[in-house]
Amino acid sequence: MRSVGCEQISKSTNQQISKKEIEEEFRRLCERAGRRGVIGFVPVGDVRLLPEQSAYLRRKLDGLGPWSDITAVSIGLLYHEVEILAIPAGWVSKPPEDGRWNQYARAYAELNRLLNHIASQLARRFGGMAEMATLEGWVGQVKHVNDYFPHCVSHRAFAEAAKVGWRGRSGLVITPRVGPALRFATVFVPQRLSPDDRALPGCGDCRVCLEVCPILRPEEGYRERCRRRLVALGLEDEVCGICVRVCWEAVGGSASR
Ligand code: SF4
Ligand code: SF4
Repeated sequence: MRSVGCEQISKSTNQQISKKEIEEEFRRLCERAGRRGVIGFVPVGDVRLLPEQSAYLRRKLDGLGPWSDITAVSIGLLYHEVEILAIPAGWVSKPPEDGRWNQYARAYAELNRLLNHIASQLARRFGGMAEMATLEGWVGQVKHVNDYFPHCVSHRAFAEAAKVGWRGRSGLVITPRVGPALRFATVFVPQRLSPDDRALPGCGDCRVCLEVCPILRPEEGYRERCRRRLVALGLEDEVCGICVRVCWEAVGGSASR
């Protein structure tokens, strides 16, 4: 993972693109957004997706050139510390009266908006396609979490394959410096770029997220129960984030600031 403190005329598809150019442009966009970011690269064909997500992506990228030449660029924007500290530090079944938790909910919406902008700018500049950060409003509209999958791809799958982080026991992508305290989008560019390879520590003996959340049992498919919890919490956006905060603390995210 490269960590960055982070319009021009778009490249025509027959011009060579370099990772350095993409990283520099991402850094510029992050700086303009006032957020730190992370970026990683992986050939799209190396990423394992659910069959319905793979079908969605092949339709979306039809026209971008041979599948074997397309690179997925995983980009992440980090939450500010104060936004993570707005999440309750332990399990609560309903939001405290002080309304502080909504600071995290608003940051979630802001990161999605910034990521969508940055992903669009990168796609335009480098002749690619952007997959936006999230489908806003899906949590309360679908009947089951499985209804969501044919309409998007998993940014976590790309971030994990690009070695931006490892898949944690929470199911989230955990970065070495800030754990899961970031949001992702993915940009697809029509050129094969060398994949990133870096050693990641993994969760080790840590089980903090499993201990804090009574519904987080990955082997039992917790995501539908999590979706219902987000609806029930009724915050200003579709978030809970308690597993994010405790993991951020477990990997020493606060110490990195
Ligand atoms: S809290 Fe610990 S076990 Fe859970 S994802 Fe983070 S590092 Fe892994
Ligand atoms: S976001 Fe979902 S998985 Fe994480 S603590 Fe909240 S309910 Fe549990």
